[in-house]
Amino acid sequence: MTAVNDRLLSVIAPAMNEQDNIPKLCAAIKAAMNSADIPYELIIVDDGSRDATWAAVCCEAQKDPNVRGISFSRNFGKESAIFAGLAEAKGACAAVIDSDLQFPPETLCEMYRLWSSGSCELVEGRKNARQKETLTYKLFSKTFYKLLKGMSGIDLDNMCDFKLMDRCIVDTLNSLPEKQTFFRALSDWPGYRKETVPFDVADRNSGSSKFTPVKLVKLALGAISSFSAAPLQLVTGAGCVSFALAAVLSVFTLCFPFVRHANELFCWTAAILLALSGILMIGMGIVGYYMARIYEEVKGRPRWIIGRRTPGSDRT
Ligand code: UDP
Ligand code: MG
Repeated sequence: MTAVNDRLLSVIAPAMNEQDNIPKLCAAIKAAMNSADIPYELIIVDDGSRDATWAAVCCEAQKDPNVRGISFSRNFGKESAIFAGLAEAKGACAAVIDSDLQFPPETLCEMYRLWSSGSCELVEGRKNARQKETLTYKLFSKTFYKLLKGMSGIDLDNMCDFKLMDRCIVDTLNSLPEKQTFFRALSDWPGYRKETVPFDVADRNSGSSKFTPVKLVKLALGAISSFSAAPLQLVTGAGCVSFALAAVLSVFTLCFPFVRHANELFCWTAAILLALSGILMIGMGIVGYYMARIYEEVKGRPRWIIGRRTPGSDRT
């Protein structure tokens, strides 16, 4: 268990190939924290970067005792980086911020002020408007948020990973045994009082987005299956519809044995059979996906492996 300073804010920044952003991130957070007189530690989690991100983290840690870093043995994904940071955090509260400076560090001060006033345990950053995105990305995220809301009741539109949590939430998240996480929704799951702070998303300081379409689809599917078993019920629903269709068709065939357009009927029967087998296969795919997730969980492999740490950043 980590030591807890009763005012300390742990800022967690996942970073993958962000070499040019690290110095600016450290400077911006330092300026914001000093201006509001907030005691802080900045934990940068290098998620298997292939550029000089780790060198930049080490350089910053050497200059500033408030900065420390851990580096994964390979890329484990942003979710793992966030949870590794939470496991390292020593603060009375912890915040997650992207390393590309799209989330303004000054908003952290507003979040901290709300938390320290004692009015809430969770402060969520809400994007005033969505960042500059392609039409496909916008359509994809809107569809994903609609599906997630419809299936699990969780409304994450305009929400992001920019959040500040009290130690009680950090401890709860650290104690969760599940391996496949979706921080954006899980941080809200323990409950507690919540406030929202609106902010404007800035442009990425340097580099480009690290989320490929494949990573985004995996994240979206993982999120839906983490919070909802509704897709499995869809399979049952599809089965009922197929069964009803089959019943209607049987009645039709029994009652009208001398149908004039036998060939047409044959075509329809074939089409229905094909549709049914399609539904069955999709259903098996959905069941298989959930089984694969269960399999991942029972394997019990660690969610990340820490390869390197900045000097003096061992857990206490
Ligand atoms: N990131 C990470 N591991 C990954 C992908 C992203 O640690 O596998 C980090 C990335 O370095 C950044 C944050 O997660 O600090 C958000 O990523 P990005 O800016 O690429 O996402 P976007 O803003 O495009 O949604
Ligand atoms: Mg970004």
